[in-house]
Amino acid sequence: MSEIWIGKRTNRFTRQQVDSFLLSPENAESNPDLFKYKMLYLLGRERNGKIYGAGTKKAWLRLCRDTDMGLEKISLIVNSWVSQASIEGIKLGVAPIDIESKERLLFVSTDFSAEDDLLYRLSHEITHLFTAKFGVNHTGVDQIARTMIKRRSHVDNSGFTSFGSLTHVNQQARSPEQQAGEDLVELVNMCLWNQDYFKLYMDYLTLSAYSSERINKRIVTLKKDVSEHIYTMITNFVDSELSK
Ligand SMILES: [Zn+2]
Repeated sequence: MSEIWIGKRTNRFTRQQVDSFLLSPENAESNPDLFKYKMLYLLGRERNGKIYGAGTKKAWLRLCRDTDMGLEKISLIVNSWVSQASIEGIKLGVAPIDIESKERLLFVSTDFSAEDDLLYRLSHEITHLFTAKFGVNHTGVDQIARTMIKRRSHVDNSGFTSFGSLTHVNQQARSPEQQAGEDLVELVNMCLWNQDYFKLYMDYLTLSAYSSERINKRIVTLKKDVSEHIYTMITNFVDSELSK
């Protein structure tokens, strides 16, 4: 029997149980505890030679240590991929994302397996809680948040990420402030997911080769020094919070 500590609780599943368990919607319904456990277990572990979500895992443990967050506050929704986070916890849609939304929302989406999609979604929701709790008193984060709101309030409603460019979620309209909030969370999420991935994305915002793609997705074009400044501010925030 191997024991893996996740958050405040220690769950007991055998290694064999964890390894053979598939993250399918059916399994989310039949064994939600093991499903949640396996997702957290996989964050930051090497899978197919890559490590993603190591920062997210630390952010999760930080939330479990300093707030009342825990696995019991994640609920799984089996018939949707749309997810949300609030002070009450995370509602995670575990259904597969459709290809069109995947291409629109994820940067280098072809690199993401179905398992990556799901873990990235979880990472995004954990980042909502992490940023809300620890970002408020961070001057750099506050500065960037203001810039983002200004940008989304502009007549072309462009911003920093495809997540922020979604004007409606579950048929509900989002204000420029809410869209800017998504932009901020998604950049922090990329940083927690993998700093090289985040760097690649910040470079992408500066490259003229992708300017028409960005216009289509209502994503801004940045000058190199601005992109580097935002990259540094966000990595500083993440690194300083995760070292506490
Ligand atoms: Zn979000």
